[in-house]
Amino acid sequence: TKAYLASMEAARALNAYIVETPEQALSMAAASDERIAKGEARALEGVPLGIKDLFATEGVHTQAASHILDKFKPSYESTVTANLWNDGAVMLGKLNMDEFAMGSSNETSYYGPVVNPWRKEGSNAPLVPGGSSGGSAAAVAARLCAGATATDTGGSIRQPAAFTGTVGIKPTYGRCSRWGTVAFASSLDQAGPIARTVRDAAILLKSMASVDAKDTTSVDVPVGDYEGAVGQSVKGLRIGIPREYRLDGMSAEIEALWQQGIAWLKEAGAEIVDISLPHTKYALPAYYIVAPAEASSNLARYDGVRYGLRVPGEDIAAMYENTRSAGFGHEVKRRILIGTYVLSAGYYDAYYVRAQKIRTLIKRDFDLAFAAGVDAVLTPATPSAAFGLEEMAVASPVEMYLNDVFTVTVNMAGLPGLAVPAGLDKAKLPLGLQLIGRPFEEETLFRLGQVIE
Ligand code: GLN
Repeated sequence: TKAYLASMEAARALNAYIVETPEQALSMAAASDERIAKGEARALEGVPLGIKDLFATEGVHTQAASHILDKFKPSYESTVTANLWNDGAVMLGKLNMDEFAMGSSNETSYYGPVVNPWRKEGSNAPLVPGGSSGGSAAAVAARLCAGATATDTGGSIRQPAAFTGTVGIKPTYGRCSRWGTVAFASSLDQAGPIARTVRDAAILLKSMASVDAKDTTSVDVPVGDYEGAVGQSVKGLRIGIPREYRLDGMSAEIEALWQQGIAWLKEAGAEIVDISLPHTKYALPAYYIVAPAEASSNLARYDGVRYGLRVPGEDIAAMYENTRSAGFGHEVKRRILIGTYVLSAGYYDAYYVRAQKIRTLIKRDFDLAFAAGVDAVLTPATPSAAFGLEEMAVASPVEMYLNDVFTVTVNMAGLPGLAVPAGLDKAKLPLGLQLIGRPFEEETLFRLGQVIE
């Protein structure tokens, strides 16, 4: 814990942590030492972790990297973090992220962007760590924690993991409780770990996952032996390669990476099959209707009365308006506008209802592939390696959204998805592959992931 606290101090330029909690960390570590001395060590005893700022931590600032939650300290602990502390883990601090988890570059944070610890060969230009869990990914990559919590609504665990050469898993929807996690799009949000290795990710997920009476969408399916799955043979597993993920204009490097992944799995005894997921092309536009719609509803609660920031006004309506104008950043306002538009009486059927229908079709594509005997699907994790700070943010919001083209289908279908580092691009930046599994069969992903990492 002391070593990590020192690294955090030395690497503040990365802006990975919003809040450091050294006192808490040292007292939790001391309690761990005592339990170890008594022979009562738990599963994660003394393991120092960083916590994405989206998770409520009792008595510790929880601001979702937004000004509107300014200095908010919850009086409760999220179920996911409570599970980790019950297993003996140590909290190092709260990690930076895109504001309310909206973004793919960690540039929408009120607390400023996170810098990726990686650089292109021969260049010192700062790169983004991906988003929205950019702080989690950068902190793990730079050794500022042994592992981190993260969340994934449309790729926010897997894309930053791919951009930083780390491992990230978005479990099946319902695997982890969402209780105490600031809501973005409730039907898509899932917590998961970012870690250095597939094995570490397996160990962390085991602790984070639980059925919880406080989240009725959490599911009572036994949590498997994830660590035991790592290293198990993949012989005979059937891996689907979806032809719709071969996008027009896909870079030769990404294509080569994908072929390399296929070759490794084949060599390890898996069987490769071509599959079709015909509704893939609708996933991104449908996601960018469903997610903002749910966000606009979830974010209605930030009114200057209950949490964080309050900017006074002549009457209560003016106070609401002033608080929300000052408290939300541009991307969050854009999502609220899109969301209220697609949910408005005149457009509900044309946009929201259609996006929901597309969602069903996307899920059905996967159901059919799994019913035909496919155990997992292999795809690239991202269309490119990490890009430069400000490079994409100034381009256009839509270009930024295109980053999520390989990841959002998984959230729309509620499936587990694992991003695993698979190689480097020409500039020596990490690239990742994605494995998508059957619902609640995260073990299969850990088995396959270890072959690739
Ligand atoms: N980049 C996506 C978005 O901005 C995904 C975010 C997420 O998974 N939290 O909506």
